[in-house]
Amino acid sequence: MEITPLYLPEDMRRPKEAEHKEQTRLRRPKGLLKRLLQGVSQDPPRRLSKRMLALALVALLVLGGLAGYGAWRYLYQQDRQFFDPIDDPANAALVAEFQDFLKTNYIIYFDARELLTPGGSHRRVGSGGYGLNRLPPRHLWDGMLASLFVIEELRERFGAELNIISGYRAPVYNTAIGGARRSQHMRYTAFDVAPKSGKPEDVAKLHKILLAMRDEEKLFVGGLGKYDSWVHIDTREKNANW
Ligand SMILES: [Zn+2]
Repeated sequence: MEITPLYLPEDMRRPKEAEHKEQTRLRRPKGLLKRLLQGVSQDPPRRLSKRMLALALVALLVLGGLAGYGAWRYLYQQDRQFFDPIDDPANAALVAEFQDFLKTNYIIYFDARELLTPGGSHRRVGSGGYGLNRLPPRHLWDGMLASLFVIEELRERFGAELNIISGYRAPVYNTAIGGARRSQHMRYTAFDVAPKSGKPEDVAKLHKILLAMRDEEKLFVGGLGKYDSWVHIDTREKNANW
């Protein structure tokens, strides 16, 4: 037999009504959630933080790229074969000929290893020029003699040991270390010379000797540059100073 709700006793109907009231109380006004969400997304600080997030992402990408490039360059350089070109067995005959060349020209203060120095950047891992320099080709040797005679005379007058920190630079090496576009070092007519003492007053003394040799005694024509810890000398066709 079927019983309709209409005939249910009062106490049996009550729980249903209570449940209904409970649901009514919890029901949100229509559209409230949407309004709340819109309110949140239009909040200015919230928008700013989104922009910050985008900026942080871009910064992260840039830093990641730089780190990746650094690692790639380091690995690439590790892979690059490195030695002083003078120690390369393939250059042994050329180096022997160079030693004879020095002897023939009565060079006493500087030896082949000093005059064929590849330069500091060639030896320094991480430098753009690392491992890139070469020995000066044979056809440049005769043109180098004038500059070599100047530094022999400089060494004689200075009376103390000198370091040749740069001589010949292969064009690819000169570019890599940011050398002058038409650097005399690429023609092997320039030397950078430092006093072994490292003292600034000795650098000044070297520069003074060279100026006297060039401008007073007219022993040579060329460029003279004075730096913090070395002097540059070359024998280009006209005088230059820096
Ligand atoms: Zn120089």
